[in-house]
Amino acid sequence: MIVMRMQRDVSLAQAQTLARQLSRDRFPAEAVRAGEETLLVLTENGQGEEVFANLKGVDEIVQVAAPYPLASRELHPEDSAVRVGNVVIDGGAGPIVIAGPCSVESEVQIRSVAESVKRAGAHILRGGAFKPRTNPYSFQGLGEEGLRLLKEAGESVGLPVVTEVMSPAAVELVSEYADMLQVGARNMANFDLLRAVGQSGRPVLLKRGMASTVDEWLQAAEYILSAGNPGVVLCERGIRSFDSATRNTLDLAGAVLAKQRSHLPVLADPSHGTGVVSLIGPMSYAAIAAGLDGVCLEVHPNPTEAYSDGEQALTPRAFERIMKQISQAFAPAGNGRRSTPNIG
Ligand code: PEP
Ligand code: MN
Repeated sequence: MIVMRMQRDVSLAQAQTLARQLSRDRFPAEAVRAGEETLLVLTENGQGEEVFANLKGVDEIVQVAAPYPLASRELHPEDSAVRVGNVVIDGGAGPIVIAGPCSVESEVQIRSVAESVKRAGAHILRGGAFKPRTNPYSFQGLGEEGLRLLKEAGESVGLPVVTEVMSPAAVELVSEYADMLQVGARNMANFDLLRAVGQSGRPVLLKRGMASTVDEWLQAAEYILSAGNPGVVLCERGIRSFDSATRNTLDLAGAVLAKQRSHLPVLADPSHGTGVVSLIGPMSYAAIAAGLDGVCLEVHPNPTEAYSDGEQALTPRAFERIMKQISQAFAPAGNGRRSTPNIG
């Protein structure tokens, strides 16, 4: 791809005009904002960058090999940090733990989980209000009532909240209640939704599709970034494979590869990634030891009675044990940076 960095005084509107002119001249171009910069992004059609050398307002022309220039480390070598409420996900100060039930079920349930995960040291509370269920007769979530209960529970314990949004039409509503929007695995390639969350101004937790390559996942992130939203956090939640012994295959290698190729924070979700309670602790440990920025875990006060994903839910006690192991192993060192070995 060819990326043109525009001069500081070029506005997005001016860059858009230039992009339209280039597109008319058969060089399809997109103007995007990336942090402080305005960029023009063009797919290469064998034209070579010298064609654009004399364009007005262009500061620098860069060739980018990845089809996701904004997500790639090529233009942005440093790790980026994403703020969710008062929490910063940047992989530096210690692993970030998102925890809570699969679904918000009642005020009593979500408050009880919020209190236990907060006590155990979680940083962000999760809980689904709009649930993407395989079967239309399964519990679909409490909808707006669930959003309200989640927000109140988060506020009462002082944790920001993340919840899934399933359609572009619901982005505004969910953004009123949530500090972070989750795009679920089944929607990773819903490009209208990606654009809509890209315009929401809320940070986004982007799950990897269960049959998506790392490259497709990073291009999904590019949709959100190119819509003007720099707050993207990737989450590996397992891909489909042949072995039914686990619910999915948690692709930690793919997650680390995403982290190597992209500057975005990357989390792992061993709850959906394995579907097996006894594997969640070891896989959380492995994900953080491999350099990921944290984990996303499902916790329920009474897993056997959960409305969804009860078989993979941790009890508050099991969650607390995992938190102790993680914090002992990966406590920040004296300099405030975490002690994960920087391997490779
Ligand atoms: C969830 O987080 O409860 C969920 C449905 O996740 P995924 O989209 O990864 O299946
Ligand atoms: Mn779930």
